[in-house]
This record gives sequence, structure tokens and C-alpha cells, in this order.
Amino acid sequence: MSLADRDLKVIWHPYTQMKTAQPPIPIVRGEGTCLYAEDGTKYIDAISSWWVNIHGHSHPYIAKKIAEQLTVLEHVIFAGFTHPGAVELAERLLALLPNNQAKAFYSDNGSTAVEVAIKMCLQYWHNKGEERTKIIAFKNAYHGDTFGAMSVSGRSAFTAAFDSLLFEVEFIDLPDAENIETLKSQISDLKSQISSFIFEPLVQGSAGMVMYEAKYLDELMAHCRAEGIMLIADEVFTGFGRTGKSFACEHVATQPDIMCFSKGLTGGTMAFGLTTCTQEIYDAFLSDDKMKTLFHGHSYTANPIACAAALASLDLFVDPSTQQNIDRIIAKHQIFAESVEGHRSIRSTRQTGTILALEWETGNNTSYFSGLRDKLYHYFLDRGIILRPLGNIIYILPPYCITDTELDYIYATIGQALDEI
Ligand SMILES: *Cc1c(COP(=O)(O)O)cnc(C)c1O
Repeated sequence: MSLADRDLKVIWHPYTQMKTAQPPIPIVRGEGTCLYAEDGTKYIDAISSWWVNIHGHSHPYIAKKIAEQLTVLEHVIFAGFTHPGAVELAERLLALLPNNQAKAFYSDNGSTAVEVAIKMCLQYWHNKGEERTKIIAFKNAYHGDTFGAMSVSGRSAFTAAFDSLLFEVEFIDLPDAENIETLKSQISDLKSQISSFIFEPLVQGSAGMVMYEAKYLDELMAHCRAEGIMLIADEVFTGFGRTGKSFACEHVATQPDIMCFSKGLTGGTMAFGLTTCTQEIYDAFLSDDKMKTLFHGHSYTANPIACAAALASLDLFVDPSTQQNIDRIIAKHQIFAESVEGHRSIRSTRQTGTILALEWETGNNTSYFSGLRDKLYHYFLDRGIILRPLGNIIYILPPYCITDTELDYIYATIGQALDEI
């Protein structure tokens, strides 16, 4: 029996309608930007394996550091105990973040990093004796798939089965020149009930790589700060170079109170999550009263192997060659975007840093479930490129080690698809 057949006997895949999905492609090896299938087919991973990979697959340096850690300490309970990797990682990451970030809380994925952020904010007000239970989020936001993270995400086909169970959130439009003043007064009207404002800075990934201007985000953040509302920057996707700077919040002047990280944190090798916060938030939990404790934790909190992977990825990330690669991708994306603008199959193009999105012309049918998405997905797969369109939106966000040749092949294939589909 083939691996795909054995898989289908025992496995339930994420975000997959198992009745109609094609059999999964068995991948047996990864190197650089490429993944190799059991039958020898080579795929360029143009979406960094669901946006997590930044230095390429099976990176020898990260692999070496993980292997070393495995023989020293694989795991230890993190309540009442600590270990060198967890401390060093927090020290090094906090030094790179906005300078108001003072404490690091580990978990094990992006959704849990968001859950921790939400709990920190809600309990911050609770511990201070104030009744502030509402959260502001953007329409079409995506913050994860657990219940709290799902609640602060936009309501959609993906949440429909649970909508009645999700807590109420104040959803606002993305800010722009026209609506910014309206949004500010909307927030001011509610301020006494609002604990926090959670947002994906600059790019709403899952919404379809929807981009908005740093200037207006900054204005909203500053307004929330003035109204005493906590700011949660969900950098799970945008962190670690995706937007051109190390963190998307470097594009704004106002500092968030809380930041969430996961996808690029270990360079895409291990599941890991991190929530950082200010001293002010941390201090609101300090008390002789045990009830003011943050009662949250996961079995694998601060797993030493994940910490070793994150430290190794960080070593590579701060090497100047990584920023050079990021700048190279940004410049090449720009040239390609300009070259396809005006094509009859392109409705629009947009780019933030290493993220390039092309919106396909569809007439009136823009649904995620439209046939175009599947057609495009398979068109690129058949040509050895993994692109995973969100509806009619194709996006490229490659590992930073992608070569010019690989990028040019992706661009050329997209150009071909534009003419043929
Ligand atoms: C992917 C994502 C999450 C959820 O992370 P998981 O590790 O998939 O749970 C949260 N926020 C944003 C912005 C994301 O892109």
C-alpha cells in the first residue's frame, strides 16, 4: 500500500474536506527551498510550509543545535524549574523587541500565544478590580483556531459551526484616511468596557494577504493607548523579517503592550509559541493573593529543544546575509509585480516586504470555495511549485534563502498561468 493510501486509512488532515480532497503528497526530504516527494518530484516551497520556514528546510546549523540539545536536556517541567535555553532566548529576543517588552511567556503554537495574550489582558483588568471584558479586533482578522483565538477572529465559514459559542468582540474596519476619525470615536464610546485591542500589524494573512498602512495603524494604536486600552500585536505571521523589518511593529512608533510570536520563531522547525508583555502587565499579577496568579501553562512550555531551535534560528536571523536576502526578495517581488500589473487576469497586486499577493480577476465569483482556487493550486503543483491560493489570491512568501533562479521560475510560471487560466 502506498504511503498516501496508508495515510488516508488513519489520518485526518487540517483544513481538508477529506471526502473530496486529493490524496496527500508524501514528502520524504527537504533541503533549502525545496521539498522532495516519495516519487522523486521536487517542489519549490513558495509559501514556506504555511508561513513558518525562514531559513530553508532541514537547515544543517539548526539541525546540529537541536541534535546537541537532545543529548543534554530534552524537557523539564517549567513551573518551579528553568533551563539555560529558555533564559537565553528570552534575553536575546527581548533585546530585539520594542524596549517596553519586559517578560516572556512560552507556549507551543500561535493560537496558544494569542490565548495567553488575551488572558493576560483580561486578567490584568480583573486583578486591578476593573470590569473591562470587551476586546476590539479587526474585521476578517485571523488569530488562530482555539476558542479564544477564534473569538477574536472574524466570523466566517470556518467559524460558523461555533459562532454561538464564541465570546462577543467589537469588530472594526481596517483604518484608512477616510475612516480613521470614525474608528477613533467608535473606540472612545466604548472605552470603559474595553480591555484590549488585538491586531495583525500591516498584513492580515489568512484574510487573503490584506494590507493596510502603518500610519493609520499607528494612529489607532496611539488612540487606544490614550484611552487606556491594552495593545496586543499578533506577530505570529509578520514576525522575523516577513514585512522587511525584523518585526512589523518596527513600522509604527507606538509600542504594543503585548506581542505574540510563533511561525518563524524556530525557523519553521519546531512548534513553539511566545507571548511577551510589559512590566506594567506583569506587575498587575504580583500579589500575596494567590488568586492574582496567571493560571496558564502547557505541558511543553519552554521545551528545551524548541528553545535550541529558536536560538539557532535567531543566530541565522541576525546574520547580515539574512537581511540581504530579505532585501533581495523585496526588490525582485517589486519588479515582478510591476511587470504583471495591467494584465487582464490581474485585478490588483500588493506587497509588504517579502509577501507578494496577486489578486486574480474572477468576474463576480470571489468565493474561497470557487473552482479557480483549486485550478491554480494544481496548475502550480503540476509545475513543481507549492502555492496555496486563498480563494482568488495567489501569494508568494518564500524562505529567505530562496535563490534568484527559483524566484524567476515561480514568476515565469505565474506569468504562464496568467495567460493560460
Ligand atoms: C497562523 C496564525 C495564528 C495561529 O497560529 P497556529 O500556530 O497555526 O495556531 C495566529 N495568528 C496569526 C496572525 C497567524 O497567521
